[in-house]
Amino acid sequence: MTFAALGLFDPLLRTLDSLGYDTPTPIQTEAIPAVLKGRDLMAAAQTGTGKTAGFALPLMQRLATAGPSVASNCVRALVLVPTRELAEQVHESFRRYGEALPLRTYAVYGGVSLNPQMMALRKGVDVLVATPGRLLDLYRQNAVRFEQLQALVLDEADRMLDLGFARELDELFAALPKKRQTLLFSATFSDAIRQLAGELLRNPLSISV
Ligand code: AMP
Repeated sequence: MTFAALGLFDPLLRTLDSLGYDTPTPIQTEAIPAVLKGRDLMAAAQTGTGKTAGFALPLMQRLATAGPSVASNCVRALVLVPTRELAEQVHESFRRYGEALPLRTYAVYGGVSLNPQMMALRKGVDVLVATPGRLLDLYRQNAVRFEQLQALVLDEADRMLDLGFARELDELFAALPKKRQTLLFSATFSDAIRQLAGELLRNPLSISV
């Protein structure tokens, strides 16, 4: 299998080539074509499987080939993660994989001051990686708007619930457009995760690697 055969376009293929990625991992092989088509996804996948590229590559291709650019304070794709460390890591992956694309990406998380984050969001961002508590703070201050949101990713959904983010997540989900693509990644599938998936996903492709 090759990345080209999965439907990725030339700018991304050249970047992957320069990173030395020549073969897609199993989760990438299943996720990339489905996400490119706009499908929802529910994936059981641990770190180290290549799941980040599995969602970042097709989402960025959709954003780069879609219509108008992002409006003030708006976000076109939102990636929710449990911790600051993961936010930085995932953001770094989007930057690396998207280096050839004209997309703005940014990460917000708690434990640092709110003001620089509010300023950075003013111009709008194509991809925002965020921890739930800080994102909710920014939303309540009108620093972030969701009317242009096309895609939502929950990364390590089980850890977000374990860390007690359920209420923040519910409040955020209520603010998102209903018509959107949603991808849920979790290492484990408890009843709580299944219930969350049932509420958020529409006719999802299920992947287990
Ligand atoms: P992840 O599971 O997304 O955290 O990725 C695990 C590691 O695998 C990261 O260091 C990636 O840079 C690397 N990686 C992801 N996909 C590929 C691939 N297709 N070929 C080689 N390395 C990869």
